[in-house]
Amino acid sequence: MSQSAARELDEQAVELLGELVAIDSVNPGLVAGARGEAPIVAHLRLRLERAGFSTLVVTPDGHPDRPSLLAWHTGSAPGPCLLLNGHVDTVGVAGMAEPFSPRIDGDRLFGRGAADMKGGVAGVVVAAEELARRGSGSVVLALVADEEDRSLGTETVLARLGATDLRPDLALVAEPSHLDLTVSLRGFAVVEVELAGRAVHTSQADEGVDAVAQLGRFLAAVAAAREPVRARGGELLVSVVRGGRAPFTVADRASATVERRTAPGEATGVALDEVEALLARMREEDPTVTATARLVVARESWQLQPAGPARTFATALAARLSTVPGRTGAPFEAPYWMEAPLFEESGIPALVCGPSGGGLHSVDEWVDLRQVRLFPEAIVTAVGSLAERLDAD
Ligand SMILES: [Zn+2]
Repeated sequence: MSQSAARELDEQAVELLGELVAIDSVNPGLVAGARGEAPIVAHLRLRLERAGFSTLVVTPDGHPDRPSLLAWHTGSAPGPCLLLNGHVDTVGVAGMAEPFSPRIDGDRLFGRGAADMKGGVAGVVVAAEELARRGSGSVVLALVADEEDRSLGTETVLARLGATDLRPDLALVAEPSHLDLTVSLRGFAVVEVELAGRAVHTSQADEGVDAVAQLGRFLAAVAAAREPVRARGGELLVSVVRGGRAPFTVADRASATVERRTAPGEATGVALDEVEALLARMREEDPTVTATARLVVARESWQLQPAGPARTFATALAARLSTVPGRTGAPFEAPYWMEAPLFEESGIPALVCGPSGGGLHSVDEWVDLRQVRLFPEAIVTAVGSLAERLDAD
C-alpha cells in the first residue's frame, strides 16, 4: 500500500472512532433504561451502504431493541472471505463527566468505549471499506450488540450467517489486546448453590438447622480448594452470598454464587463437578446439610489454532504490527473471556487482536491513537498475505 493511501486509512479510523464514541451505546442489559445499540448500528449501516456493502440488521428473539449489523461485500475477483468482528455496546458511564464527548490529548482519545472497543470497530470498518474498494475476495463485518453482558448479538449473527452464502475462512475479533496476538483466553462458569435449613427461634437454635452456619463451612471449603485450581491456571471464588430471614430466627436458607474460571483447554464441566464434590464432603460430615448446585452460565476457553487460516493471518498481522508503540510483542494469554470461541464453535477459525489503551470499564477510558492508526492498514496487508498463502495451498 502506498504511504498516502495508508495515511488516509489512519485518518479515517480516527475520525470514525470520534463519531462512534459520541454515540451513546451503553448496554441496557447492564444499566436499566440505557440507550442500547440501535443508534450506533443505524450510523454504521448508513455508512457501509454508501460504501457499497449489503447490510442486514438482526435482532435476537424477544429483543427487537438490541440490533446487530451484518454487512458484506463480495469482490469481482476470487480471494479469501474474511469476517471482521467488533462489539458496539459499552459498559455504563457512572462517574464520568463527559463520556460521549471524545477528547484527544496527545496520542490518547478519551471517552466511554474508546478502547473497549470503538477503536477496534473503527479500525475494522475502515479496513473493510478498503478491502471492498480493492475488490478481491469477500469481507463480512459482524458489528454486534450485547458483548458486555450475554453475547446475544454474536449468537444471533452466527445463527443468521448460516442462512447466507457467506462462508468466512476466519474471524478477526478486534477486542483490545494492545495489538498483541491473543493466543488463548480463559472460560468461565457460574454455579449457584442453595442451602436449605430449618427455621426455629434462636433461643432454641439446636432444634433448627442453621443454613448460614453451613454457608460459612462452604465458603471455607471453597477457599481451601482455590489454590490447586489457581496452580492449574484457573480461578475459583464466591462472588455473592445471601442468607437468613430475620433476627431471632435461625436461618433456613442461604446461597452462594460460585465463579470458576477455566484454564485454556479445560472444559467448563469441571465447575459443577467440583462444587458438587465439596457439597458431598460437607454432607458426609454433617447429614443435616441439604444443598443444591445449579449451573447458571458457562462459556468455554479458547486457544488460537496452531495451523490454518487464522494462524496464517495472525502471523502476517503480528509481523506487520511488530513496531507498534505500546505493544509488548509477547503472546497475550487473556485471563478473561471474549467471544472468539463462539466463532470457533460455529466452524470459523478465530483470532483476537485490536488496539487498546487504558481505563477499560473505568471512568478515564482512553485508546492509544497510534495503535488505532496502524490497525486498518495492517489488516489490509495481512489479507494480501493470506490470499497468497491460500493460493499456494
Ligand atoms: Zn470488549
